[in-house]
Formats: sequence, structure tokens, C-alpha cells
Amino acid sequence: MSTSKTNSYKIAVVPGDGIGKEVMQATLDVLNELDIDFEYIYGDAGDECLEKTGTALPKETLDIIRDSDACLFGAAGETAADVIVKIRQEMKMFANLRPVKAYPNTNSLFENIDFMIVRENTEGMYIADEESYTDEGAVARRIITREAERRIIDYAFQYAKNNNKSKVTAVHKANVLKKTDGLFREIFYEVAKEYPEIATEDFYVDATAMYLITQPESFEVIVTTNLFGDILSDEGAGLVGGLGLIPSANIGEDGALFEPVHGSAPDIAGQNKANPIAMMLSAIMMLRYLGENQAANIFEAAILKVLNDANILTGDLGGSATTAELTAEIKNNL
Ligand code: ATP
Repeated sequence: MSTSKTNSYKIAVVPGDGIGKEVMQATLDVLNELDIDFEYIYGDAGDECLEKTGTALPKETLDIIRDSDACLFGAAGETAADVIVKIRQEMKMFANLRPVKAYPNTNSLFENIDFMIVRENTEGMYIADEESYTDEGAVARRIITREAERRIIDYAFQYAKNNNKSKVTAVHKANVLKKTDGLFREIFYEVAKEYPEIATEDFYVDATAMYLITQPESFEVIVTTNLFGDILSDEGAGLVGGLGLIPSANIGEDGALFEPVHGSAPDIAGQNKANPIAMMLSAIMMLRYLGENQAANIFEAAILKVLNDANILTGDLGGSATTAELTAEIKNNL
């Protein structure tokens, strides 16, 4: 461990509920071993916070996130949707990133999967504009704006460029949704002209759902609208073996938040059983977002070694190690 660290960052830490606290502590334990100076500012959010303070997301927590270089978020229980949706809106987090990557000795269905789903987070079907019933039933509006779609598509190409990916795939349903998704596809090829070194393709969402099973290794970066991204992300999670290993990021104009996809897991909370790897992989996404690629690679290699060795694994991965034992092993491997 080095005594004088190079770069320094202010990190908002929101452990939240249940195993969120345990996987967060495990992750900070490893981050502290890296050659980077992190100042952690703790914020409250989630079910316990609601019980204690009357709100699941206090204004102070939002301020802490706003004032930080990045936020690490553990998990929130019943209040999860409200808390995360509010943070996304307040911080204008327009991009949701869900990596789909196969790790060894997990329940991954294939070995060679490593792609990123870049999902638009602010519009599309999920504006949930369906206030009133009609005489016939109910109607929801789907909004696609040039500005938001250009921003997410450009983000996907930038991501590809910065992460040595050679292809971006646009996913839509422009044969049926001719105006909204027609526009999405048109903007995709407009933006693509600015990245001549990156290959492009576009598929219908239904075909993509199948290709993710039949040829998942062919994808590198997928960019898509809100609803399709939500569904394909969970299909991706299923492909690589479930919850304990899946990180995510929300990136915006005013901040970035990194969190595991799993929830607070009340059934195993407080028992030193939780797998901290999804939270750790979220922290690794944060390191890459901060430009700390070398530290990210070191941290990820330490996790990979634990999975390859398969001696010290938590229960969800078929082992009997505790959160603390797995964390200690990852620290040893750094
Ligand atoms: P919440 O209400 O917070 O969403 P949940 O239990 O409904 O909680 P998850 O927390 O996502 O949903 O957990 C679903 C299942 O997966 C639970 O049985 C849980 O124990 C297991 N699980 C989730 N995350 C982990 C993890 N990191 N390590 C081990 N098991 C996990």
C-alpha cells in the first residue's frame, strides 16, 4: 500500500438498506487499498431513512451527491424505485449503463460475452404519460426528442471510442413505430458519421432479444430507448447468471451514480453472507468514469482471480465464504 496517493476524489457514499451496507463497506475496504485518495461523504437514503427522518431521500443526501465527483449507492428496499428515480431526475442522469459480461465459475450461459447496454433514461415510454382513462381503455404517450436521443447516441459512440469497442448497435422498432423510432434510427446514422472508425448496425428489438441468446458474443455496445433498454438489460443479466455480479451506472450532466443491480436482500441482510462483487464492479465502473483505468483494471483482475480460483466464494456462487472472507481474498489479490 502506498503512503502518498496520486489523484483525489470526493465520493458520495449512500449505503442504504440491508446488504447495501455490507457490500458498500466491503467495497470501500478494497478501494482504500488503491493508489487513489478518496474522501467519502456519507448520505442517508432508503427505508430505514424514511422511518428515521420521514423521507426516503433527504435534501442533504441530494446535495452531497451533487457536490461529489461520483456517488456509490448500495441498495434501498421498498423505497428503491422512488429514491433512484428521484436522484436520476434531480441530477439529470440521462444514461443508464448496464454491462453484460461473463465471469468464470458463475452461472453465465456463455463464456464469451462482454458488451455494454446504453439505455436512454429520461423519455420514451417511461415518461409514463398515461394520466387518464379513455372511454375505450387507457392511452400512454411515447416521447422521442432529437436532443435526448442525440445525447444518448453520442454517449454510446464516445463510450465505444474510450473503451476500445469497434461497433455500436442501435436497437429500435422503426418498422412499426415509424415516426418515433424512425427518428431514433435516423439520428443514430447522423451521429455515426462523426465516428467513422466505429462500425454500426441496427436491429429491431424483437430480433435483438433473440440474437442476445443466439449470438451474444457479436455485441459490443448497444444503444436503445428507455423501455427496450430496461427489458434487454434484464435479459442480459439472465445471460450472465443473475444478480450478485451485475453492476450499473447512471450518468448525467450534474452527477454520476454507481450501484449494484440487486436490492437490499432482507433475507440475508446482516449475516455476512452477501456477495459484494456487484457493488465492487459498480465501483470499478466509477473508477473508469473518473479516468482511473489502471486502478480499475487492478481491482477487476483481483476479482477475476477469486472467481477463477473458485476457493473462496459466497453462497450465491456455490461457496460458503463470508462477505468478509471474500473481500479479504480480493484485497490479497490486488
Ligand atoms: P428488495 O426489496 O430490496 O428489492 P429483494 O430480496 O426483493 O430485495 P434482491 O435484493 O434483488 O431483491 O434479492 C433477490 C434474491 O437474490 C434474494 O434471495 C437475495 O438474497 C439474493 N441476492 C441479491 N443480491 C445478492 C448478493 N449480493 N449476494 C447474495 N445474494 C443476493
